[in-house]
Amino acid sequence: MTLEKYLSQLNDAQLEPTIQKDGPMIIIAGAGSGKTRVLTYRIAYLMSQGVDAFSILALTFTNKAAREMKERIAQIVGASEAKNLWMGTFHSVFAKILRFEGHHLGFPSNFTIYDTQDSQKLLGAIIKEMGLDKDLYKTKQVYSRISSYKNSLITVKAYFNNPELMEADAMARRPRMGEIYQAYVDRCFKAGAMDFDDLLLRTNELLTRFPSVLAKYQDKFRYILVDEYQDTNHSQYLIVRALADRFQNICVVGDDAQSIYAFRGANINNILNFQKDYDNVKLYRLEQNYRSTKNIVGAANSVIEHNKTKLEKVVWTANEEGPKVKVHRSLTDGDEGRYVASTIWETKMNEHLPNSDFAILYRTNAQSRAMEDALRKRDIPYRIYGGLSFYQRKEIKDVTAYLRLVLNTADEEALKRVINYPARGIGQTTIDRLVVAANNLNKTIFQVLKDIDTVDININNGTKNKLRDFVTLIESYQVMNQTANAFDLAEHIVKSSGLMKEFNKDGTPEGVTRLENVEELLNGIKDFVEGQLEIADSKGDLAEFLEDIALATDLDGDKGDPNHVALMTIHLAKGLEFNHVFVVGLEEDLFPSAMSMNTRAELEEERRLFYVALTRAEKQAYLTYALSRYRWGKLVDSEPSRFIEEIDEQFIENITPKEERRINPMLSADIFGDVEPNKIRFKKPVQPKFKKKEKTKPANFEISAPKKLKKASEIQAPMDASLFGADLVVGNRVKHLKFGRGEVLKIEGKGTDIKAEINFEFGGKKKLLLRFAKLEII
Ligand code: ATP
Ligand code: MG
Repeated sequence: MTLEKYLSQLNDAQLEPTIQKDGPMIIIAGAGSGKTRVLTYRIAYLMSQGVDAFSILALTFTNKAAREMKERIAQIVGASEAKNLWMGTFHSVFAKILRFEGHHLGFPSNFTIYDTQDSQKLLGAIIKEMGLDKDLYKTKQVYSRISSYKNSLITVKAYFNNPELMEADAMARRPRMGEIYQAYVDRCFKAGAMDFDDLLLRTNELLTRFPSVLAKYQDKFRYILVDEYQDTNHSQYLIVRALADRFQNICVVGDDAQSIYAFRGANINNILNFQKDYDNVKLYRLEQNYRSTKNIVGAANSVIEHNKTKLEKVVWTANEEGPKVKVHRSLTDGDEGRYVASTIWETKMNEHLPNSDFAILYRTNAQSRAMEDALRKRDIPYRIYGGLSFYQRKEIKDVTAYLRLVLNTADEEALKRVINYPARGIGQTTIDRLVVAANNLNKTIFQVLKDIDTVDININNGTKNKLRDFVTLIESYQVMNQTANAFDLAEHIVKSSGLMKEFNKDGTPEGVTRLENVEELLNGIKDFVEGQLEIADSKGDLAEFLEDIALATDLDGDKGDPNHVALMTIHLAKGLEFNHVFVVGLEEDLFPSAMSMNTRAELEEERRLFYVALTRAEKQAYLTYALSRYRWGKLVDSEPSRFIEEIDEQFIENITPKEERRINPMLSADIFGDVEPNKIRFKKPVQPKFKKKEKTKPANFEISAPKKLKKASEIQAPMDASLFGADLVVGNRVKHLKFGRGEVLKIEGKGTDIKAEINFEFGGKKKLLLRFAKLEII
């Protein structure tokens, strides 16, 4: 595609940041306004301007987003160039860098990445070894506590220097948190393993402690771009800041109204303070939503208005009005599921739509069950995102644990997983003794196994023989790994370790499924080995494959038939879009969640979540709720969510059928009063919230547009007219997208009508209205 052709797919406001090559910049804009599109096109533009793909770093929120961006860029600049881009989530990009540089911190280049399951298992073991009460020290809670320390860069040492933190843990009846933290960090280090949070924490450590490493990557990444900047945590923020410090070519995009990960440490101040972090930051805003109908945009705007803490933003759309947002009430969660399934079915039939046009979004994973039951009854194919990722299934983890151990024999969790699986007569007592010996001798368990004849350990000779056999087995795989490719090795392991037989020994349908999954894993390895070899800095080896799957989320592995209805939590749906979206379970205490209503800040985060949900819809949004629902095994009554009431009624339509009242005597007058059920109006919002296409300058917008305009390309229609043409003088050399370079011969007119006569290299003399000309001074 030619440069002009793809740039013409942007509106003026989008084009400006896209072609502003250098300097720090931030785009703050509402949902669906093309932020991600601008990032994508900007990368393509930079490459067209001769910026080397290897020196562009683009950080996205999901791997899926990175892949889609890369594909789009490949269409514009060609696949061979696009594949050299450094693009991915923070975790995947910095895992790669740690492979190269981790040795500075004492990590092997083939370090293992512990997923949540591995981390929690290790914590469980530590809590047990320390003899602590596992009801007080719940592994999940301990894990999330440690995770939050790490994301705030609180190391073990910092923890012990912080009486407040220790006090807080003591108050929570976990006075030995610090010791657990210490033991966990030590054990991970000894196992040559990093958990997810380490990938960021250790990167920070690397960049802070080793100035030469910092300099190397500052020099490498001359252009840095970050999507969904509003949800970066402190650790991520510091990494970006350190890397961008030298060239300051940093472009971040985000929407404060879509900040929904505060509960996991995301810090909205990162976006609010961006302008203070860099000099001469250019601020851009996009206002036109291309995703949704007028009714959806209007409804979403009217809800987010209720948040006090926000940057004022204008979001409007030129899209069609579309149908109103439909609100539907059911008796029970089961009825709600049936309503959603039958509506999908009917809409599909009437409008000839694929399943993939529909998404069902909910607040909590538990809500998927009622939806699934109903979809299954109607034979509508669906897929649940965000459950266990394929790679976290037991049989898959069993196979990959062998692979991990082959690469990194220090990997404690992998070793514990496979040392007696399939069963080879090595009991738990033996394993416990091995762990103790390894801790005492400060060796890895595998080293203890290798030295089993000489270490002082209470294990009988028969068992020692079994341990020796196990060492021999793993070492034979290591030998094979020297020459064979990852696929051949994995296949050999599955067959020779006894796993294959083990998975299907009961001959049940589940056994068959397990085998199919393992086969799928092998296919995946094959694809990886073959596909990735084309990538310049990829060796397609086992280490890379394992890294890839450790960081895979369920959203990534789009396996199977893509034509399915998508079911996922709203958190996972960020950045995505679907034609028809059902936001279900809109009930008080569920959404907003009962656990998030203690403070205004929490409630506002719930509201932003609702805003995210609503703005995923392109054509039609449905909001559903039930009057009673099974929660924790009990049927509880529920009330409609306040968020429904907050929508300006002009954008919604109540579609609960009349008959329901007749059929269901439970629906009594105290709910509906005397009003006909299908004429139910939700309470009018306390204040009128939505003004059409508000065009006034935001008052409490902290970041203001740069006052002094340097380039004509900054001139944009909605800006103050007196600024048009500022700084452009006769004699300037300028660049135009279509006509190329040129020289300004004359400037005439006033305000928005300033014109310049320019002599272009292609096309000769032209008179252009500056407002539209998109000139760049060169
Ligand atoms: P979110 O806040 O949800 O992440 P966003 O601001 O990143 O949204 P995009 O996903 O980039 O928005 O764009 C929303 C939709 O609008 C996409 O389908 C995109 O292709 C389309 N779009 C964006 N800009 C334009 C344009 N100038 N012309 C046509 N379609 C556009
Ligand atoms: Mg986006």
